[in-house]
Amino acid sequence: MGPTVNPQPTMKPTTLLPGPQPTAARPTTLGVLGGGQLGRMFVHAAQAMGYAVAVLDPDPASPAGRVADVHIATAYDDEQGLAQLMQRCEAITTEFENVPAAVLGTLAAQRPVAPHAQAVAVAQDRSAEKAHFAACAARTGVGPAPHAIVRSPADLQRLDDALLPGILKTARLGYDGKGQVRVQHRDELAAAWQRLGQVPCVLERRLPLRDELSVIVARGADGTLVALPVQRNVHRDGILAVAEVGDGAVDPTLAQQALEATQAITAELHYVGVLCVEFFVVDDGSPSGALVVNEMAPRPHNSGHHSIDACDVSQFELQVRTLAGLPLVTPRLHSAAVMLNLLGDLWWRDGVAVTPDWARVLALPGVHLHLYGKLDARPGRKMGHLTITAPTLAQARDVARTAATLLGLPPWR
Ligand code: ATP
Ligand code: MG
Repeated sequence: MGPTVNPQPTMKPTTLLPGPQPTAARPTTLGVLGGGQLGRMFVHAAQAMGYAVAVLDPDPASPAGRVADVHIATAYDDEQGLAQLMQRCEAITTEFENVPAAVLGTLAAQRPVAPHAQAVAVAQDRSAEKAHFAACAARTGVGPAPHAIVRSPADLQRLDDALLPGILKTARLGYDGKGQVRVQHRDELAAAWQRLGQVPCVLERRLPLRDELSVIVARGADGTLVALPVQRNVHRDGILAVAEVGDGAVDPTLAQQALEATQAITAELHYVGVLCVEFFVVDDGSPSGALVVNEMAPRPHNSGHHSIDACDVSQFELQVRTLAGLPLVTPRLHSAAVMLNLLGDLWWRDGVAVTPDWARVLALPGVHLHLYGKLDARPGRKMGHLTITAPTLAQARDVARTAATLLGLPPWR
């Protein structure tokens, strides 16, 4: 199958944007759909560069809404909310891939929008996403996991036994391992599909993972592409737990292959904005393992949060630059880094609410604490992260392990 998107990017020439603050009295306003932590860090980066930011998110206490210049608290498809966003903003992005792609299309008729609706639509649907990866694999040699699409009981009947044991994943709306059921045997398939509400799904073979990687790139409307250093990711229960970056984090040959695959995936989509592609390193008997492409996120990514403290340009500043049509430069990693996610579980011990001992953690060298201002610490909810920077990855890992022990986080390898 060829490229799955309209080859004409819908981004208008961004040179029309007046720059951060065209007059001392009037900052340019950038808009973001979604008010989660990614939006919050985008707001921080944009404001640091002199932009004002308007956030559209229905939650009155959303992390980004609370720090934005303007918070439009309506549903993502609310006509009045979207009209307000268009009136106030000179260009619009998203921090959340499940914003209806059609909404981005509507906004793009009036304002520069990045990423464009067609690219977001591909990322929103695992079957379209995998078709795109498979099309790119012809060029890059890195394809998706063996899989099949499930839309009907007949599709379930037809599934190849080679896909088992597998993971049945909803085609849309999954995140942090939600919308997934592990299936060992064929006779569990019907119940698994039932549990997922019999919505369109993808059954993926469960692969023997040796490791996981991600590549974050930013691509401008003129096709310029820059990348963050490749990070190594550790997941726990389907949720990112740790990201490591620096010499020794990732085998250089795999990193290069992952980068080339990401470049092809991004360019074939005529993508404008920040994009993350996640990879599996699968045990295939070879010394380094083989790369398989897992999924992509049309926005900055949790695995790139280290870039705020460990790089001279963060993934959020890159998002601002792509949206505003400003030059893109390759971020330089000035410190090795380990990022630890802080989930809501940390605020509970034996059913009693507690405050993590930040003072002890912050007494360690190179620890940067980021909390997202979420008011409700539910187990599994991403509340914040720590980035530990150090001259070498071994040193960053040492401090990160001490911080993890202090907080009661499990060890990782
Ligand atoms: P995200 O929050 O990254 O969007 P998601 O809910 O879309 O997550 P996936 O990336 O599909 O979930 O899976 C989450 C994790 O589960 C992966 O990072 C990996 O650790 C494990 N996993 C997923 N698919 C497979 C597979 N086919 N084989 C082995 N492990 C897998
Ligand atoms: Mg994932």
